[in-house]
Amino acid sequence: VEQYLVRIEENRHLNAFTEVYADESLAQADKIDQKLASDTAGRLAGMVIGIKDVLSYTGHNVRAGSRILDNFTAQFTATAVQRLLDEDVIIIGRQNCDEFAMGSSNENSAFGPVRNAADTDRVPGGSSGGSAVAVQAGLCLASIGSDTGGSVRQPAAFCGVVGLKPTYGRVSRWGLIAYASSFDCIGPIANTVEDAALLLEIMAGPDDFDSTVSSQPVQAYSQAQLPNRPLRIAYLRDGVESTGIDASIRDATQRKLDALREAGHTVEPVDLSLLKYLLPTYYILTTAEASSNLSRFDGVRYGYRSKSDNSASDTSTMDLLSLYKKSRTEGFGAEVRRRILLGTFALSASYYDAYYTKAQQVRRLIRQETERVFEQYDFLLSPTTPTPAFKLGEKTGDPLQMYLADIFTVQANVVGYPAISIPNGTDAGLPIGIQLMAPPFAEGAMVALAREMC
Ligand code: GLN
Repeated sequence: VEQYLVRIEENRHLNAFTEVYADESLAQADKIDQKLASDTAGRLAGMVIGIKDVLSYTGHNVRAGSRILDNFTAQFTATAVQRLLDEDVIIIGRQNCDEFAMGSSNENSAFGPVRNAADTDRVPGGSSGGSAVAVQAGLCLASIGSDTGGSVRQPAAFCGVVGLKPTYGRVSRWGLIAYASSFDCIGPIANTVEDAALLLEIMAGPDDFDSTVSSQPVQAYSQAQLPNRPLRIAYLRDGVESTGIDASIRDATQRKLDALREAGHTVEPVDLSLLKYLLPTYYILTTAEASSNLSRFDGVRYGYRSKSDNSASDTSTMDLLSLYKKSRTEGFGAEVRRRILLGTFALSASYYDAYYTKAQQVRRLIRQETERVFEQYDFLLSPTTPTPAFKLGEKTGDPLQMYLADIFTVQANVVGYPAISIPNGTDAGLPIGIQLMAPPFAEGAMVALAREMC
């Protein structure tokens, strides 16, 4: 813990942590020392982790990278976090992220941007940017992030670490601040596939506080083996052939495919006819869900309340509607406001069928097409991202360009399947990731193959 605290201090410029629990984690370490001495320590004894600023932890602030949750303290602990604590993990701090997990570059945080440790002029990816950089720079051993459309895998790829998004409903969302409830998944970021698998194994499983959690038994992912037969691996043809993909990423992906073929597996290209509908579907549905989820932040119930009024300096003369409007306008950042507006539009009476219903229908078609791929193949492989980490500020003026960073990651969330990003070399010092997607609840086989590929 002492060593990590020193490293965190030395790397303040990366802006990975929004809060460091120095005294608390040292005290926790002492307690665990005693447990180790009496042989009563849990399975994660001594593992020092950080948690993304969207996970509730009793008595600690949780801000979701937003001004609107100023001074808000969690009243309970997220189930996933509690399960890790029960196994004696040490939580060293809270990690910076895009506001309400909306973003692909960690530039939408009220705490300022996070910097990629491989090149501090570049973004770490998002939205779990602080969580990925913390592992990349050795500020903790592992992190817990959340993935709604790639927020664990994309920053993991940009930072050269492992990021795992489980099947939807594998890990309880209780205590996770909601972005888009039918997409959100809690997932680990770690240096190795083994660590990610172990963390998942401990966080996963039924929870009375979240009715969407599956009761399927949790496998010992960290021990999982591959079936003793050649695997059928599909890869996304566009990921290797499309000119929209950075050449270094196409080449690195191709080399991995060749290696898998040499290892005796069947490796074949597939086309997703609905690929171009993935991002529109994702952004219509997630903004719709977000506009509803974020309506609770009204300046009354949580955190930030506007004090400004045109006619007076305090809220006493403001009417309720103005209080809501001002608090939300001042409390939310530009990207969150954009998404609330988009989502509210998609859900409005005259446009509901044209946008929301249509997107739900397309979501079903995408799921059916994905199911057809997995009738023939065990895994679907693609680059995690179309480019390596881009420069800070490079895409902030063009949200559509920014959204394209998620082209390969959103499918897993649209269909609810598990996926993992593992490091796949570097180009000019910038990390490259490769993504493996598996059928629902096949996390065991997925991590077994990921381990083999590392
Ligand atoms: N970058 C995507 C978005 O902005 C994904 C975010 C996430 O997975 N939380 O929505």
